[in-house]
Amino acid sequence: MLTTNAHPTGRHFLQIPGPSPVPDRILRAISSPTIDHRGPEFGRLGLKVLADMQAIFKTQHPVMIYPASGTGAWEAALVNTLNAGDHVLMYETGHFAFLWNRLATQLGLKTEVLSLPGLEGWRNGVQADLIEQRLKADSGHSIKAVCVVHNETSTGVTSDIAAVRRAIDAAKHPALLLVDTISGLAGADFQHDAWGIDVSISGSQKGLMLPPGISFNALSPKAIEASKACKTPRSYWGWGEMLEMNKTGYWPSTPNTNLLYGLSEACDMLLADGLDNVFARHQRWAAGVRAAVTAWGLAIQCADPAVYSPILTGVMTPEGVDADAVRKVIYERFDCSLGTGLGKVKGRMFRIGHLGDSNDLTLVATVAGCEMGLKLAGVKLAGSGVQAIMDHFSSHPGGLAKP
Ligand SMILES: *Cc1c(COP(=O)(O)O)cnc(C)c1O
Repeated sequence: MLTTNAHPTGRHFLQIPGPSPVPDRILRAISSPTIDHRGPEFGRLGLKVLADMQAIFKTQHPVMIYPASGTGAWEAALVNTLNAGDHVLMYETGHFAFLWNRLATQLGLKTEVLSLPGLEGWRNGVQADLIEQRLKADSGHSIKAVCVVHNETSTGVTSDIAAVRRAIDAAKHPALLLVDTISGLAGADFQHDAWGIDVSISGSQKGLMLPPGISFNALSPKAIEASKACKTPRSYWGWGEMLEMNKTGYWPSTPNTNLLYGLSEACDMLLADGLDNVFARHQRWAAGVRAAVTAWGLAIQCADPAVYSPILTGVMTPEGVDADAVRKVIYERFDCSLGTGLGKVKGRMFRIGHLGDSNDLTLVATVAGCEMGLKLAGVKLAGSGVQAIMDHFSSHPGGLAKP
């Protein structure tokens, strides 16, 4: 613990890969007075955020907004489209894919998990060719859906979703494509319509730079048809009534008004900046952080440079070094939070988030905190990550100095 009763001075470095640091502008928007969620002003806000989220998901089709964490939206995607006992193909890229599979199993779905063997599955992206082979072998079309995670937050891997779509098409298979982009959306490129996704799932507290508490389903016409035929009992998560009421900007139950003010502000910021600029900024930050990790002589959890995440970087600690002990030193000494290793990589790696309200200097300082903490924990470093990230940022203009 830091000193009791006293809040540390300056800002806490919230460098976990979500919840991400929230810009002051969004916090101020959230602090506006709560309004009548059945009044005319609310309807305008509702219609605005629904349209804005279509732009963020790059879709012409409806987006559902739930007062729930991302896990709720995972469940919503499954209960609206699939029946208990349905055969579902899930690809395990890491702990979040693992948890989604567990949730599906708890709902009574018959899941089949694909992955690369051993730790390789957790160091690489979705292998679309494995999905294609499996679907080609399913000539009776018993598989009803393919579920993949876009940005695997437990490892720092951003899978190629367009390749998964191509694999399903190459197998001429009618399975629905369900994609978790809870941490990918608004940090890495994401194209719901162009990639032929049936349900995209996201949440507020990662790339959207909001506090936790809202989550999303973006739908396709095929998913809406599936939801009408689906027999799974559902009430709160049901799309039907929401689709009707959303047409005028309202919800069946009370939406989180103040977080929606924040969402409106976040969308204004992201869309005014331009999504391509937002994605380029995250790529540049990620490259700077990776330069630091490489200079330390440590391994990056993602083993395939083609799928490095722009949102976070997983850092593997040397054999015999407990990554959580390193994180603890960095938290206690430097007031900086880093992501823990989840599931089977617990203690073997930590995660640096480079999303939300970050900038070059917060990331240089984060790397400095890590470097001091690693040394204090007795890790022998090959070189200075701080120098490497400074060199990277100074030789790759970004931010205000647009070329
Ligand atoms: C954060 C996250 C989740 C879980 O979302 P909650 O809001 O914690 O329920 C699921 N999948 C991915 C990829 C995530 O990053």
